[in-house]
Amino acid sequence: MDLNSPRLEWRRKLPSSTTLSDENVVKIRHWIDVCLDTHHECFNAETASSWVPSRLLEIDHEDNGLKIRLIESSDHDLQAGAKFAALSHVWGNQTESPPLCLLSSNLYQFKNGIDESELPKNFVDAAHVCVHLGLRYLWIDSLCIIQDSLVDWREQAVLMHLVYRYALVTLVATSATFCNQGFLERSIDSIPAIKIAYSLPITGEQPLSAAHYMIIYDYDNAQDSYRMFAVNGSKWNTRAWTMQERSLSTRMVHFCQNKIFFECRSCLQSEENEPTQESDTINSTLWPRGASVSFDELYEHWQLFVCEYSSRNLTVSTDKLPAIQSVAEEMAAVTGREYIRFAGMWKANLQDELLWCVSFGTLGSPAPELFSDF
Ligand SMILES: [Zn+2]
Repeated sequence: MDLNSPRLEWRRKLPSSTTLSDENVVKIRHWIDVCLDTHHECFNAETASSWVPSRLLEIDHEDNGLKIRLIESSDHDLQAGAKFAALSHVWGNQTESPPLCLLSSNLYQFKNGIDESELPKNFVDAAHVCVHLGLRYLWIDSLCIIQDSLVDWREQAVLMHLVYRYALVTLVATSATFCNQGFLERSIDSIPAIKIAYSLPITGEQPLSAAHYMIIYDYDNAQDSYRMFAVNGSKWNTRAWTMQERSLSTRMVHFCQNKIFFECRSCLQSEENEPTQESDTINSTLWPRGASVSFDELYEHWQLFVCEYSSRNLTVSTDKLPAIQSVAEEMAAVTGREYIRFAGMWKANLQDELLWCVSFGTLGSPAPELFSDF
């Protein structure tokens, strides 16, 4: 092995049993710090706002486990500018694996505390990430929006784009296909690598212990040659809701099966520090920002966005418009143009928008019959 190889920096230790290893926690903290300190695209006057969501989960880690409770900004429990993380995840089949939900009936109970044993594994994993990153607050959609209150749902839906904008980081449960799966455990056996013990004959010194080893990966396999496959090819990336969550986030950590990625508005990084080759990914997946962006420019992105969004999957068909509303809210806020919520169209371009059609061979699930509740 050529120890002077530029690939040397790609070597890493034997994979740990969790993607939240000490080594990775240091990396995530470093990525966030660099982003905050040096990325003008990511951290500016807009993202320096003291805005906080109406509700957040407060997390304390004690000797006997996590202590979690729901807090509301209206109760003055929450200080302006409090740093928080947001979770982006796939709920999964809600009959087989229903996520824990905030309801009108358990609001008071959740404010007193939520037992860790009641939480889906993805939520517990997200809370542990927060503890390791030193973040006290976490936003999870099903626990921070009252799921059986249409009034609350409407109020919170128009604020959702701000959640992802102002979250210090969006934690993406990329590897999990349902809420009880968890997203931190690695499947070490599936990593394409071999372990070789070795020693080096160094004059005058004892050979190094056989406990030293190198890990050799097959970097040429199809999956690894496409660095972001674990993200872009995931089930998470096929869901309608997650498209706007990714587009609107300022910075994300993707917890994939065997690797973590950091994605912000200025860079892509991976756990193994290999060069990221998808520089175009940032422009194609993240929603453009800035007060100087024109409506016409954003409308071009909107049309492309809607094309991909239309092919994505929804569990609840009536979410077709709500799951894209946050992007529209952000676009309306920047341009001042009117978005027709019940139609999913822009008033200024209504004539063109009514000429939509279905691409040949891409007919998916039918549109819901009625959006009367929206
Ligand atoms: Zn950044």
